[in-house]
Amino acid sequence: MGIDSGGTLYTPGHGLVADALIMHGLIRVLASKGVYDGYVERIGDRFRIVLNKPIDEICDDKGGQGRRGSDSCVVRSGIINNIRLALDSYRRAKPRRFLRNFSRYIYKFDSSNINPKSFDPWMSDLLKNIRSGIDIGLYSHDLYDHKGICREGREGRKSRCGDLYTLYMNLSSVYGKYSSSNFMVKENIYYRVCGACFTLASLGLLFGVFLNRYASGKNVSIVFVSVIPRNSVEIADLLALQRLTEGVRDVWFDMPLLASPMYLLSSGETLYGAYGDLDILTWKIAVSGSSQRSLDIVVMDLGRLLEFISEVKYTVPEWPRIVDQCLSDPDGEGATLMAELTEAILFNGDLYRVAREFTSFFTNHGSSACRDYSSRLYRFADALFSVG
Ligand SMILES: [Zn+2]
Repeated sequence: MGIDSGGTLYTPGHGLVADALIMHGLIRVLASKGVYDGYVERIGDRFRIVLNKPIDEICDDKGGQGRRGSDSCVVRSGIINNIRLALDSYRRAKPRRFLRNFSRYIYKFDSSNINPKSFDPWMSDLLKNIRSGIDIGLYSHDLYDHKGICREGREGRKSRCGDLYTLYMNLSSVYGKYSSSNFMVKENIYYRVCGACFTLASLGLLFGVFLNRYASGKNVSIVFVSVIPRNSVEIADLLALQRLTEGVRDVWFDMPLLASPMYLLSSGETLYGAYGDLDILTWKIAVSGSSQRSLDIVVMDLGRLLEFISEVKYTVPEWPRIVDQCLSDPDGEGATLMAELTEAILFNGDLYRVAREFTSFFTNHGSSACRDYSSRLYRFADALFSVG
């Protein structure tokens, strides 16, 4: 097999969110097997992963051509082993709830979930699939119509790719009648995918998505932030950015979608480099009482946000502390400002108005430490106008 056939993988076409998760899951599994030379290309809502190596050199287990019309290439080792161990310990722990904080994998899965009843079925289906390995041959060129060939979606027909599993809302941003318009909608029929898509989307959630979780009584909202190529990007760059998005943050306010990347990029290490061809993909799901909702999905220009954040961190070195101490207030006023800031930077909004609102926010702040920061704000305004 040459690089054009054997070395190319295509995400299945379950929508931008699920495909981004599957892409992140795939590149992390491949990296744990020492394969990271190549690039990822975005094709509409799907991704093509082009490796400098035929995939049949990567498999732990190779099979012949099956009913699906492609060679199977099952991967069992690498990071998959670690996750299998975590899931196995979780399955045997009593009480299970206790173990959630002892494995960062289980903790992250739990933090992404808005439906407590689906958590144990999700974990046990995942364990079952991880044990049998992930067939990455299902994403080869022969299965470009993966979704059709495996009969995935809401149709409920018997699949030729083994059992099908529910793609929960935290793995797809689609659910019942709230699903996005790209999907054929039948109320109360779950969107179902093959074991490989189900497993890789779950792994993508672990490694390629940062979570902001807000919980207050029965209301929970979660904002997901991921990085995807706008056109084409080296696998190594995406893997480096996965370090930024592995975490979970509990927030004290209902995070506006547009504010989420600003918080993520403001804290932690400053990223420099050629990230101009990348987008941030962010989406939100929420539950209030018994109603679960999938809210907006937004794609933003990462390069432009990074340019601003790098400039702010350079001119106002206290910026990460200011964001933590002053702009993360429980009433969400700081978050609203952060959303307006993002909007002004990305969509050529009124920078003067945003600068005035920041000044007024800091000079009237209840905390004297935050009021003290207001003297630094002229430098913040400089940064704002230099990119705006
Ligand atoms: Zn599938």
